[in-house]
Amino acid sequence: MGQMATATLLSPEVLAKYQPVIGLEVHVQLLTRTKAFCGCINQYGGDPNTHCCPVCLGLPGALPVLNRHAVELAVLASTAINCTVNEESVFARKNYFYPDSPKGYQISQFDKPLAEGGYIDVPAEGGGVRRIGITRLHMEEDAGKSIHDGFADSATRTYIDLNRCGTPLVEIVSEPDIRTADEAYEYLTRLKEILLYTGVSDCNMEEGSLRCDANVSVMLKGAAEYGTKAEVKNVNSFRFIREAIKYEIERQIEVVEGGGRVVQESRLYNSAEGRTYSMRSKEAAHDYRYFPEPDLPSLHVDAAWKKAILRDLPELPEPRRKRLQEQYGLTEQDAATITADRTFADTFEAAAKTAKSAKRVANLLLGELIGRLNTAGLSLDQSPVSMPGLVKAADLLEEGKLSSKQLKGLFDIAFEKSEDFAAVYEREKPQQISDTGAIETMIDEVIAANPKQVEQFKGGKTTVAAFFVGQVMKLSKGQANPALLNELVVKKLSAA
Ligand SMILES: [Zn+2]
Repeated sequence: MGQMATATLLSPEVLAKYQPVIGLEVHVQLLTRTKAFCGCINQYGGDPNTHCCPVCLGLPGALPVLNRHAVELAVLASTAINCTVNEESVFARKNYFYPDSPKGYQISQFDKPLAEGGYIDVPAEGGGVRRIGITRLHMEEDAGKSIHDGFADSATRTYIDLNRCGTPLVEIVSEPDIRTADEAYEYLTRLKEILLYTGVSDCNMEEGSLRCDANVSVMLKGAAEYGTKAEVKNVNSFRFIREAIKYEIERQIEVVEGGGRVVQESRLYNSAEGRTYSMRSKEAAHDYRYFPEPDLPSLHVDAAWKKAILRDLPELPEPRRKRLQEQYGLTEQDAATITADRTFADTFEAAAKTAKSAKRVANLLLGELIGRLNTAGLSLDQSPVSMPGLVKAADLLEEGKLSSKQLKGLFDIAFEKSEDFAAVYEREKPQQISDTGAIETMIDEVIAANPKQVEQFKGGKTTVAAFFVGQVMKLSKGQANPALLNELVVKKLSAA
């Protein structure tokens, strides 16, 4: 199974005959203090088998009690992805044997999930948006972990750590609305953004707080029925999910083109090889014998409780992006960069409110500051230039008291000496030429040296004024007062 030749041999014409159909199942650990049904701490790591009790281990006679905070986070997540929260939902037992799940079943929700019928909008390839439907969000508990390597006898033994047993999860199931690997990537990126904004999860993929399975099938374009799907399981980064889906689409097309049939199965993605492999596993045979969990009453989220929960719903990334564009005149790209992280967006907005021009703050933040921080390997918290320092720099630029060249020089010093901008500025106080006569002399010189550009300006190409400003600025070693220079250049050119 799955040992087909590399998929890259497929021609674009062959690929174009097929329509990929993709659905995603995302498991998200909730940021509660304790586990879903017991008082054990909900925390990643710890010495193996130390965060467990009779309830999360499913010992006989132990009774689960639902964690109220887990429900509240699940309701927040449901609402943020536009799902309708059911007033009544029911917990069910999903029965299966697995070594890292000593209970022999998982408490989940089956025919009556917490929430249904949502969506996330993703950017469409040709512009605009595509709406990806969300079938449901249900609550469940996590299993423990089997540890297959890292021990001297790992070749012959598997170790079990049950600390993760009973960690509260929500599973978010999309409709099979996704058509490309890139769209899957966009969907996941937006979903993660929303989950982080609402604070329901830390979405740390390396620690398994967010995990994704992809159901992939292909069908001939225009066919009435979906093809047989394969499930790619447990990929630990969005980039790899995109690669895995791409690979899987091509693999399936190749199978079908070769006259074969796609087998319904679970597959694992090997990121080192960039391909998926069939899992030798009985998981394809789904017979979980679901039945209502006898130890838990059905869950009621009435209107009053829901209302109280939703008081904690923050402004979400998408509306915030739009607002930042309108309120501060940011470009779509800058607004998207700023809102990708809620804390970053909060930091920006707090600074922008105190500045003379929010747009200048955005430009300096995303251009000058983040660039330097990345180069230096520093986070925004560690930046020598504080946000008030950045605002001061933006204001000086806005008022024309500093040229951008001078600003770069001051930032150089701030980063070299690990000093804030205001301190550097006060000490260095860069010279600025604000003498009209001196600036005019330099403008005359540049005008005389560039007759062609003068002609262009006279011919109506007024943007060429920027060229003259740049030349004079260079001549003045960055010291000409920018506001005055701009004004005088236009005046001189118009009279030339
Ligand atoms: Zn416990």
